[in-house]
Amino acid sequence: MNDTKGAAIVQDLGRRLLTDLSYALVECEDCGKVRRFGFEQLKTVQEYGAVTLGDFSSRAACIECRRFTQRRNVTIRPVWRCDTLSAVA
Ligand SMILES: [Zn+2]
Repeated sequence: MNDTKGAAIVQDLGRRLLTDLSYALVECEDCGKVRRFGFEQLKTVQEYGAVTLGDFSSRAACIECRRFTQRRNVTIRPVWRCDTLSAVA
């Protein structure tokens, strides 16, 4: 383990399992739409092959904006089961 701050923290978050999530908020930076991924939605994401938060963040997109652009300008705010830590991935 190393204790360096910054990218390492994001990488650690990216390796965390979706099954550890209580829920996640996916916020679109372009239109401001916030989508809540609760248990059922996260289960669907996992059925499509995403295992970690990193997998999820590389697939997450705004359904509204995706109709007009390939850009995926979304921020994921995970809320973990085991704590109330909220961070930007
Ligand atoms: Zn959007």
